[in-house]
Amino acid sequence: MRLLLIEDEKRLVAFLRKGLREESYAVDVATNGKEGLELARAGHYDLVILDISLPLLDGLEVCRTLRLEGNLTPILMLTARDRVEDRVKGLDTGADDYLVKPFSFDELLARIRALLRRGVAATDEISCGPIRLNLKTRRASRDGRAVELTTREFSLLEFLFRHPDEVISRSRIADHVWDFPYDSESNVIDVFVNRLRSKLDPDHHYLTTVRGEGYRLCDRSQASGNHG
Ligand code: CA
Repeated sequence: MRLLLIEDEKRLVAFLRKGLREESYAVDVATNGKEGLELARAGHYDLVILDISLPLLDGLEVCRTLRLEGNLTPILMLTARDRVEDRVKGLDTGADDYLVKPFSFDELLARIRALLRRGVAATDEISCGPIRLNLKTRRASRDGRAVELTTREFSLLEFLFRHPDEVISRSRIADHVWDFPYDSESNVIDVFVNRLRSKLDPDHHYLTTVRGEGYRLCDRSQASGNHG
């Protein structure tokens, strides 16, 4: 998942960037509202974390502008001002949730996960054939049996689950799951996909390779009448 953090407090930015990367989120940072608005418009972010008081353009204005332009990326607003009218204003401009500073990192993570879940399903569990992901507990299972995944493996699988039936290129995976530009010489993504297969899909029924293009999550076991 790629997040955009729009925040001008340097120490908070450093802390959040490090912590979020350790949780396997890809993170871009803007330190003023103008730059943040431009990045939010240009990038395909899964979520924006937006401070209210920012140089050049405040967070309320950034949020209002994005919504007026039809940008529906989930927005989590941060505010140092624990005043009801600011929170109400934030939600009125189209933010999805808000967090009052100072907040605990665990609470931030919980809010991020909750907002990201909303886009997928009303429930916390999504499945493809016998493979199930619980987005709340961040655990995977196959045929009801828990399968241990690393944080990175879970993030990769989650990204594929969020885009079922779509062909996902390696560069898109690199961008959203690893936070580095795709290097066609590197086979790190293929290595991780193969690890997921060996743990969850040894027969390659669900995590399929689209030659020359990337990967696709789909349920081929349901394809009726032919090569399944
Ligand atoms: Ca600020």
